[in-house]
Amino acid sequence: MRLFLLLLLALPLLLACSSSLRSSSLESSASSGVRELTVLYSNDEHGWMEGRESGRGAADLLGLWREKEGYSEDGPFLLLSGGDHWTGPAISTWFEGEGMVEVMNTMGYDASAIGNHEFDFGLDNLEQRIRQANFPYLAANIQWKASETLPSELGILAFTTTVVNDLTIGIIGLSTTNTPSTTNPINIVDLSFLDYESVLRETVEQLEAEDSDLIFVVAHVCMAALRPLAAAVADLNISLMGGGHCNELVAERIGKTILLESNGHFRSYARAHFEYDLGRDSLINSSFSTEKNEAGSSDEAVARLVAKWRAATEVELSALLGFSSREYLANDDRLQRAVVESWLQIDSAAAIAINNRLALRAPLPQGEVTLADIVGLLPFENTIYAVELSGAEVLQVLAAGQSPFVTGLIRTENDWLLAKTGRLIDADQTYRVLINSFMYEGGAGYDAIAKFDSAGFDTEIHYRQPLVDWLLDQDSSANKPLTLP
Ligand SMILES: [Zn+2]
Repeated sequence: MRLFLLLLLALPLLLACSSSLRSSSLESSASSGVRELTVLYSNDEHGWMEGRESGRGAADLLGLWREKEGYSEDGPFLLLSGGDHWTGPAISTWFEGEGMVEVMNTMGYDASAIGNHEFDFGLDNLEQRIRQANFPYLAANIQWKASETLPSELGILAFTTTVVNDLTIGIIGLSTTNTPSTTNPINIVDLSFLDYESVLRETVEQLEAEDSDLIFVVAHVCMAALRPLAAAVADLNISLMGGGHCNELVAERIGKTILLESNGHFRSYARAHFEYDLGRDSLINSSFSTEKNEAGSSDEAVARLVAKWRAATEVELSALLGFSSREYLANDDRLQRAVVESWLQIDSAAAIAINNRLALRAPLPQGEVTLADIVGLLPFENTIYAVELSGAEVLQVLAAGQSPFVTGLIRTENDWLLAKTGRLIDADQTYRVLINSFMYEGGAGYDAIAKFDSAGFDTEIHYRQPLVDWLLDQDSSANKPLTLP
């Protein structure tokens, strides 16, 4: 025991000795000569580890990087991401991003910006994902509203420094200031997202103490904002700014700064190559390009991981929810009604539910109904919002929105009756109305809703979940098939 303790105490000393020996023997070669570095950049991966098309997923991209770029984990490379790793297909969404972090760990990512969708499953989940990751999640412009400090409790860093091929690289992260309107607002209610330029100036000043040879920025920020930012901070000598959020395929130079972005979903990547003269302390050459993720041979380790998450997804998807004696097409009123009526079950104060008909995308099949069928039927990552609208506003919303399907109201020849009371809808009375988050965000012509009730409440319940619960409650089978309301 005592010997073990002594060893423990001596260990830091031994490590310190060996590292100082190592650095002094490398000193002569490290302080002179030209060093190269290649940055491989992706963003908005959004859970597409399998790719939008076969042969264009995460495993293929890593294979392509090895073959085309000569990438190896300990080579002169930095793998950077502009954020939004999850929220997309079920393979990532049902596991709240866990599979994506595992895949990106195995690919060897070195750092990532924090995208708005990193907040989709709440702060606890983000903290777990950051812990799970072998790379840091960076955002210098996020603060707790109350203390005006970086949320380092969640594991978020403003910047990181890393040494690759004797080059010290400082990497700063930025998150889009649109985050409060592009993730579930309840998740980020305690956080503020600060203006990019002033934060960059402060952070570069902090980085200066780290004696970086090159400064890079990973930003979950669209080019419309990143281009003017690059111009505005030209004096900061930032060599690379990677973007995200708008899925634009970009490789260009603004002043001395290279701008990179991919078009997301692992469909492509952007790259930059740097040659740095350590003796003269200066960047002597750089180049950049965008590349498609195609014709790479699949990396075995990543392919195995993707197959593992596919199998886990299939297990979830095959869950049996019920039995239907006939098929109902997506636009069938009975199926449309089943969806909105199921919503009314989650909120007893709500009298009316409105969905846009196109939120339903596939039929309810004849025979066994599985979770996979319901995911196909309601495929979007929408939640249910509760809003307070006057009777007059409800009618305006119904008139303006594209193909609304409503329940809780009965259409007569000239009027609308409230189903709960059988009375005419009252123009001045306030009604609690359930809609989906896409409509609340102004999709499909529903932009009046958020104006009528700017404090709409996100129930955080997925728009698919009440239908799943309703189907299970019916306890249907071949002997007792479903009857839609
Ligand atoms: Zn985004």
